[in-house]
Amino acid sequence: MTTSTDVDPLVARMRPFGTTIFAEMSALAVRTGAVNLGQGFPDTDGPPEMLAAAAEALRGGQNQYPPGPGIPALRAAVAAHQRRFHDLAYDPDGEIVITAGATEAVAASILALCEPGDEVVCFEPYYDSYAASIALAGAVRRPVTLRPAANGRYAFDPAALRAAFGPRTRLVLLNSPHNPTGKVFTPAELALVAELCQEYGTYAVTDEVYEHLVFTDASSPHVSLAALPGMRERTLRISSAGKTFSCTGWKVGWASGPAALVSAMLRVKQFLTYVNAAPLQPAVAVALALPDAYYTGFRDSLQQRRDQLVGGLTDAGFEVLDSEGTYFVTADITALGGSDGVEFCRSLPERCGVVAVPTQVFYDDAEAGRRLVRFAFCKRPEVLTEAVTRLRALTR
Ligand SMILES: *Cc1c(COP(=O)(O)O)cnc(C)c1O
Repeated sequence: MTTSTDVDPLVARMRPFGTTIFAEMSALAVRTGAVNLGQGFPDTDGPPEMLAAAAEALRGGQNQYPPGPGIPALRAAVAAHQRRFHDLAYDPDGEIVITAGATEAVAASILALCEPGDEVVCFEPYYDSYAASIALAGAVRRPVTLRPAANGRYAFDPAALRAAFGPRTRLVLLNSPHNPTGKVFTPAELALVAELCQEYGTYAVTDEVYEHLVFTDASSPHVSLAALPGMRERTLRISSAGKTFSCTGWKVGWASGPAALVSAMLRVKQFLTYVNAAPLQPAVAVALALPDAYYTGFRDSLQQRRDQLVGGLTDAGFEVLDSEGTYFVTADITALGGSDGVEFCRSLPERCGVVAVPTQVFYDDAEAGRRLVRFAFCKRPEVLTEAVTRLRALTR
């Protein structure tokens, strides 16, 4: 075997993936002292009951390998939570597996289900790990583009979705509520996805990490694709504690589905991480059982902060698109004289001391996202007030 320090040692299929835009923009925020509305992590802690349970588990000796599929108490809590909020029944023994965040669940699902050359239909712009996970599996992504429509919300062309399906389609990867657009897929859109999955005999992998962040003025409530007729048996439903309980650093996620799909995924997952976060698992079980008031309070608080930021962005001259859910809102920069989101975001800290991320980096069709940028509003109100004040400098 020959090795050389002159040659990039990285495998070819990963070379198109550089450092994530979040690293670049967060470094820029630190260097310039800008308010970082780039990366989507909350700047406050999650529910105190959850934190106390984690501390107790740590001190109480729950620090060794948990069972491969996750501790029974957490699997039971995940099952109860899905029954409570989505009327979906999963057996905690065999139909639920705990993962190192939703990210690992998505990666393990794709690696478990896709042969090299198989195709994955997904909606762009997409969460940045999707393209990399598809590439690691040697699979091929078939993007369907979400574009701002006249009503201020993102939509896709149904014919484009239909055209993305073909004989090599293995699965559809669906994220709703959707990062980065803040879109909540409508019942009609979900029904079309379900129809095509059944027509082509494909699986679905759903990323529902923002399941509790659908705002009261959204066009539809959150509906799991798995809840549609004929879909439970072909869907791996993924979620995570990070976004719902403001603990993005914990990386405790889960996947639920029919036993055959879950065990296929577990076969891969056991060799990626085997297990993770032993003392955090009982704490997430406590959090999942919190009363409804926690969930509605959390949503209302995010909705207020969305409104605060949207108001500031609008005053600053952005053309703001509707955010129906998630931590994010997107805006078009054309009215501010911008024509390229990457350039715009690189100069924004200098111009006004705020960091955003360009969404074109989440598209294969970069042109479709050229003029769109994403702002995170999962920050303390005083941080958003400061950001809004600074954004006003753009119009002066
Ligand atoms: C944050 C996020 C994830 C990652 O979840 P983890 O549990 O931290 O791995 C996955 N998908 C989407 C759409 C996200 O926004």
